Amino acid sequence: MKLPKVREIGEAVKAIVRGPYTSPFPKRPHVPHPNFRGQPKFNAAKCLGCLACEAACPVNAIAHKDCVEPEAPVRLMIHYTDTCIFCGQCEAACIADHEGIKLSNDWDLTFFDRKQAFETIEKTLQLCEICGEAVATCDHLLWITDRLGELAYSSPTLYLSRMKNLGLASPPLTLFGEEGNRSDRFKILCARCRRKTTIDE
Ligand code: SF4
Ligand code: SF4
Repeated sequence: MKLPKVREIGEAVKAIVRGPYTSPFPKRPHVPHPNFRGQPKFNAAKCLGCLACEAACPVNAIAHKDCVEPEAPVRLMIHYTDTCIFCGQCEAACIADHEGIKLSNDWDLTFFDRKQAFETIEKTLQLCEICGEAVATCDHLLWITDRLGELAYSSPTLYLSRMKNLGLASPPLTLFGEEGNRSDRFKILCARCRRKTTIDE
């Protein structure tokens, strides 16, 4: 008969005294280590909708959709849980002091339907006052004006965004879809309409 080794007897005795090495999951919820790299989460209050994280993500786990309905223009920021590899590049690239998206401790990522494996936040969009296309999110434009200080006054789009945020800019007179001309230069415009009204006209 093969006799048990001394080490195995020692471990068996320890297991009897201290209990099993494994945790009694799922009877007791698992508590991950504080440094555990789990599911990244957007912070809707801090995120600017700038898309830097989308560009930095190596596996296209972040995407966006722009809804340019004039009544409620929004940018939907999407994180796909099933594609993410938890590398942290989105958090490292985040221009909002790395607070717009952060790795969390969330490790339970099971879904019955894979189509539900995503999370979203919404950011209000600023539309071009001539063509109605997305310029940027309102928060991102304000963030840029903050960084530029008085230099922001060289861009009608930036200082009008600030005035609009303060409630000091009136609504656009041009209806979306109209052709822009030189008199439209002092409006919030996308790059294409800015070029058209400044150079082409
Ligand atoms: S953790 Fe990495 S893979 Fe996941 S969303 Fe961020 S950049 Fe993409
Ligand atoms: S602010 Fe940060 S989280 Fe939000 S879109 Fe930009 S990089 Fe991504």
